[in-house]
This record gives sequence, C-alpha cells and structure tokens, in this order.
Amino acid sequence: MKAAAFDYARPDTIAEACALIAGDHDAKLMAGGQSLGPMLNLRLAQPSLLVDITRIKDLARIEERDDAVTFGAIVTHAAIEDRRIADPTHGFLSRVARGIAYRAVRTRGTIGGSLAHADPAADWVSTLTALGAEIFLTGPDGAQRRVGMKDFIHGAMSTALEPGEILDGVRIPRFSASARFGFEKICRKTGEFAEAMGVAVHDPERGVCRVVAGAGGGRPVAIEASRGAGARLLDRFNDAAAVRDMLIEAGVTGDDYKMRLQVAAVRRAVAELAAR
Ligand SMILES: Cc1cc2nc3c(=O)[nH]c(=O)nc-3n(C[C@H](O)[C@H](O)[C@H](O)COP(=O)(O)OP(=O)(O)OC[C@H]3O[C@@H](n4cnc5c(N)ncnc54)[C@H](O)[C@@H]3O)c2cc1C
Repeated sequence: MKAAAFDYARPDTIAEACALIAGDHDAKLMAGGQSLGPMLNLRLAQPSLLVDITRIKDLARIEERDDAVTFGAIVTHAAIEDRRIADPTHGFLSRVARGIAYRAVRTRGTIGGSLAHADPAADWVSTLTALGAEIFLTGPDGAQRRVGMKDFIHGAMSTALEPGEILDGVRIPRFSASARFGFEKICRKTGEFAEAMGVAVHDPERGVCRVVAGAGGGRPVAIEASRGAGARLLDRFNDAAAVRDMLIEAGVTGDDYKMRLQVAAVRRAVAELAAR
C-alpha cells in the first residue's frame, strides 16, 4: 500500500516546526521515518502535513557540560554507534546502539524519534531510563521544559509530549570512569525488537545504582538503590526467585513465560556489569 496524500514542509528552526504542528492538529513530525514511514504506507497514520525536522541544525546539536552531555533529537543511532559524538557513558551507548535493528535503520533512525514513538521494546526507552536521562520539550510558545525519563514515558506509545510540542534534546548524565554497565536484549534474531530487556548501571562515585526491566509492554520498571547501597542491591540478583519477587513488587507483570524472560534479562545485565 502507498501513503495517502499529504503536504510536506521542511522547516529550518524548532520554532517554525512547532508553529506548523500547532497550527494543524493533523500534522505530524517526521525524523528518520523508520517508524512513521511504515505507518504511513499502511495508512495507520494519515497526516495532512508531514513536517520533516531533519534539516533543523539545533536538533543536531551536541552540548558537552561537566556533568552531562545533551544530544539533539535528530542524532542518529549510527552516530552514537560510531562514537562520532561525545559519549558520557564511555562506550556503553555505542554498544546499545549497535543492537538496534540493522545498519540501514540506524543510519536514519534518531534518538528523539525513538523516544517520541515510545515503543516499549525500543532500546533507548529502557537504556535512558536506567541512565537517568532527561528530555527537553519545546512548545509552540518557545518555552522549554525538562522531564525525567521515568515521567516522560507514560506507557506503550504514550509520552508526556503535549500537542504542538517537539522533543528537542536528551540530556544524559556523565558517568565516572569506574562506572559499570550491563545490557541484555532478548530477541529471536539480532536486530529485532526485544521480547525482554535488562539494563544495569552502577556508579558508586556518583551514587547511582539502577536496574531496569524493559520491553514488558508498558513503561520500563526501574529498581534503584540509595547512595551507598548499590552493591547490596546487585547481590540480590544472584537469586532468580528473589528477582522475580522484586520485579513483581516493582510493577512488572506478565504470564510465567514473560516473567522468566524478564528475570533472565535483568539477571544477565547485572551479571555482565559484575564481570566488568
Ligand atoms: C526493521 C526495523 C527494525 C527496528 N528495530 C528496532 C530495534 O531493535 N530497537 C529499537 O529501539 N528500534 C527499532 N526500530 C525503530 C527505529 O529505532 C526507529 O528509528 C525509531 O523507532 C523511530 O525513530 P525515527 O527517527 O525514524 O522516527 P520517525 O519514524 O520519523 O517518527 C516516529 C514518531 O515520533 C514522532 N517524532 C519523531 N521525532 C520527533 C521529535 N523530535 N519530537 C516529537 N515527535 C517526534 C513522529 O511524529 C512519529 O510519530 C526498528 C525499525 C525498523 C524499521
């Protein structure tokens, strides 16, 4: 099937893009088109106007600060994979990017598009929750607001984006050189969306220890330790039955098969972290 007819605009600024979508409720932003393209062709989306944001320079920005790096929304998975831009996680982001789909998808697909689409199985959705990232959103009046990942994702394909708003950047905290990370994506074939995902981060110097169970069908579920209690939390992942209880208590749901996958994913992520 082919997409239904639509108008097309390619603005140069965030303000112009916001004005275009605020002025037409049937307009849709398009970044890499890797999720939206198939939806257009299947006519699951029939926008009156497609607003192509890939020429907006501010959305391609990289801002390095002492405590964090901000990526503009149209930074591609491939740019992260290739380490063409600053990586506040010392290579972990590149490793996650490498597992997203296939190179052709990674060349066009963007970090902002992935987060705005909010597929529960998307790699950035769980990973950036584990890293404690924040999302910058800009509205039609030019005002920018900052939302933590755990408040940005409301559920499957549902986010804190308001009508007329654009996701303009992702702020990822800088981790210390001694930080350790683990990532496990359970899928049938390399490059496919996950059936279950585990992400583990431990940075004692920054007081961060977080384990995330993702791809469960809703928002990712994070289990966090308070400062100084990280090692104790990670020890609890040695016991599969205890992990299952912990996940259920944290809000992970699913039948026995799904729960086994979730338990395996988080335990493998923690084991990888521990082995580093
Ligand atoms: C074959 C295939 C396999 C894939 N496998 C994986 C996988 O294993 N893991 C994974 O994580 N992903 C996977 N993906 C999805 C891929 O990562 C996409 O890049 C991503 O989901 C969407 O990014 P995009 O830039 O292409 O966004 P688009 O498709 O252009 O847009 C997606 C949605 O987000 C909105 N949007 C885009 N940018 C913004 C913005 N800045 N502000 C507000 N709204 C915005 C659009 O309006 C649209 O609703 C796969 C895709 C394909 C085609």
